[in-house]
Amino acid sequence: MSKIRVLPDHVSNQIAAGEVVERPASVAKELVENSIDAGATRITIEIEAGGRRLLKVSDDGEGMVHDDAILAFERHATSKIRGSDDLNAIATLGFRGEALASIASVAKVELTTQTAGSNAATRVTIDGGRMRDVKDAAHPLGTTIIVRDLFFNVPARRKFLRSEATETFHLTNLVTHYALAHPEIAFTFSNNGREVLHAGVAKDLRERAYQIFGSDFLDNLLEVDGGHPQVAHISGYVSAPRDRRTSRDSQFLFVNRRFVRDRLIGRALSEGYRSVLPHGVYPAALLFIETPLEEVDVNVHPAKTEVRFRRAAAVADAVRESVRNALASAGFVREEPEPISTAHQQAESAAVGASVGGPEFKSITADVATVKSAAEPDPLKREFNLRPDYQSPPQSKIDFASLMSSVEEALAEEADPETPGRGDAETLGHGDTGTGGDGDTVTRGHGDMEMDDVAASLRPPVAASPRPPLSASALSRVPASGLPPFNSAEKFARPVAPESLSANIRPLGQLEESFIIATDDEGLLLIDQHVAHERVLFDKYRALESERRSESQQLLVPETFDLTPAQAAVFDDLAPELERYGFELMRLSGRTVAIKATPADLPASEARNMLAELLDTVDAEKKNAAHDTLRDEIAASLACHAAIKVNMPLAPEKMRWLIDRLLQTSSPTTCPHGRPVILRLKTRDILKGFHRI
Ligand code: ADP
Ligand code: MG
Repeated sequence: MSKIRVLPDHVSNQIAAGEVVERPASVAKELVENSIDAGATRITIEIEAGGRRLLKVSDDGEGMVHDDAILAFERHATSKIRGSDDLNAIATLGFRGEALASIASVAKVELTTQTAGSNAATRVTIDGGRMRDVKDAAHPLGTTIIVRDLFFNVPARRKFLRSEATETFHLTNLVTHYALAHPEIAFTFSNNGREVLHAGVAKDLRERAYQIFGSDFLDNLLEVDGGHPQVAHISGYVSAPRDRRTSRDSQFLFVNRRFVRDRLIGRALSEGYRSVLPHGVYPAALLFIETPLEEVDVNVHPAKTEVRFRRAAAVADAVRESVRNALASAGFVREEPEPISTAHQQAESAAVGASVGGPEFKSITADVATVKSAAEPDPLKREFNLRPDYQSPPQSKIDFASLMSSVEEALAEEADPETPGRGDAETLGHGDTGTGGDGDTVTRGHGDMEMDDVAASLRPPVAASPRPPLSASALSRVPASGLPPFNSAEKFARPVAPESLSANIRPLGQLEESFIIATDDEGLLLIDQHVAHERVLFDKYRALESERRSESQQLLVPETFDLTPAQAAVFDDLAPELERYGFELMRLSGRTVAIKATPADLPASEARNMLAELLDTVDAEKKNAAHDTLRDEIAASLACHAAIKVNMPLAPEKMRWLIDRLLQTSSPTTCPHGRPVILRLKTRDILKGFHRI
């Protein structure tokens, strides 16, 4: 007897639903995409109980005639493609014709729709894939779909749903994405009867981003516009390097206005930030990639959140270069690294070693031409050209703060280490765990770890990574009792914008033997001596490396050290890269390595630490990252270990030397790890503080 049978429709639909419908946000995604494809100018999304109890999407699109409203729930029923040829150039968001069938197989669905030509609207009711009722109804032009009791007939799936707050967050995130991608459509989103987002038709992305995030967010963004229309045109906004996030959750990436999670683009974006942001720290981004339709295959995954580019490398180049150019035009990096003259190198080598406080005085007047004048207007302000009425916070801004506080409450309740973790890449209902293209170091361990990241992404950017601690005595000095508390300078001292730096910086002394106190035309400056030197050395190493002229110092007695098995696994790949920087390494028997020479500036005592640290952080993923990225990592690590430390007295000449060198670097205000190098307290703020103005 034969044993194979064709499954009934409602069973195969449920199986398909496993891929398309993972959580309420994936249902919303399909419905919103359908509304956009139907040419809607207004889309309203309402949810209750995190979308489990109710999820309603209304639009004013073209609607469906009576027969289509019924057909729409058949599997592979679509109006968007006709044959396989159409798969090569898909212009609509949908095309698989399985979303409505899948959703209707795992929920109670009611669809009401009206086209321009018909007398009455049609209402179709389907429960768990079974058609219950079709009748005439009243509805304005467009379509409303109500999805109730998601997974009512699939208890196993229901169990996987997260707390209401988590599901609500994913829904909010989803609506945010589509609202950003379609400023020409008005979006309204309400949760349990309360309106969370109301964005009217906007004239462009900037206005839409303002409606959603407010002007603070916008003020800190840099505009991206680059690439090539035949391959990929790149537009949108990215954050300045000082904005640091520990996850990619603030990255909104779109391909032909389709919301995607793409490792290639994510990685190329990070590479655009090479030398100003380290691995494991991410910029915020709203990036739109427009390619000719035939350049991209969107039929890669049922949830359509992955795409495949025909010329992937060219797209990645376009993203990286466009982002780099945006950083360069805002002054965060220089277009071309300045070749460093031999004289400078010698001065550096001599100065960096033990000779702190030595006589390497150099005038800072020589190279001022490379520093932009302070009078130049802020390119950001000019770029955004904010209208005066943009100054007050908009009404329609998503109330993220209250949303997130409810998420955090839910987290506290839900924390349950027994539950196995599910990665955040499942946001839209599929298991692409690969968001961490280039060495995501964020651990997504257990329970709702994902929500910690999500919450963090909406809070202000993270604080700087740990730095060498100040001496205990410096920190424990208690202010003399009896004095009234001073006003904190925190809100006055700000990281310095690169274009406001002039060469007219005069060092006055040191604070805690760690920060150089200086003045310039605008006020008082504090320069972190360690990170300033790190920036100087980083640029130097990168320049030397690209000219293949690294300088070594031979060790009298080679240092040996033993690799852990994990370190040994990456050592052979990393060694040639390290040798470009002046290391001479020899693998002895087994996992023992001898260091025979180190880069000129690196104290021998630091070499071992640095190697161990690098071998630990460069994992298999990064090894395969672009060479430039890996070299940046090595240069940054070298710079950090060779740089003068905090708690080190500096002679006045040494301070001037450091400031002089710093001003010539590619990015004097940001260290290779993205931290600020200089803080400024403006004379104006000092005057205000003393109530003189
Ligand atoms: P797909 O979007 O892949 O075509 P769906 O199952 O999502 O498949 O939808 C099936 C069809 O139903 C669509 O091709 C479209 O013709 C119609 N449809 C769905 N939603 C709407 C809507 N909101 N407005 C008008 N037509 C719709
Ligand atoms: Mg669809």
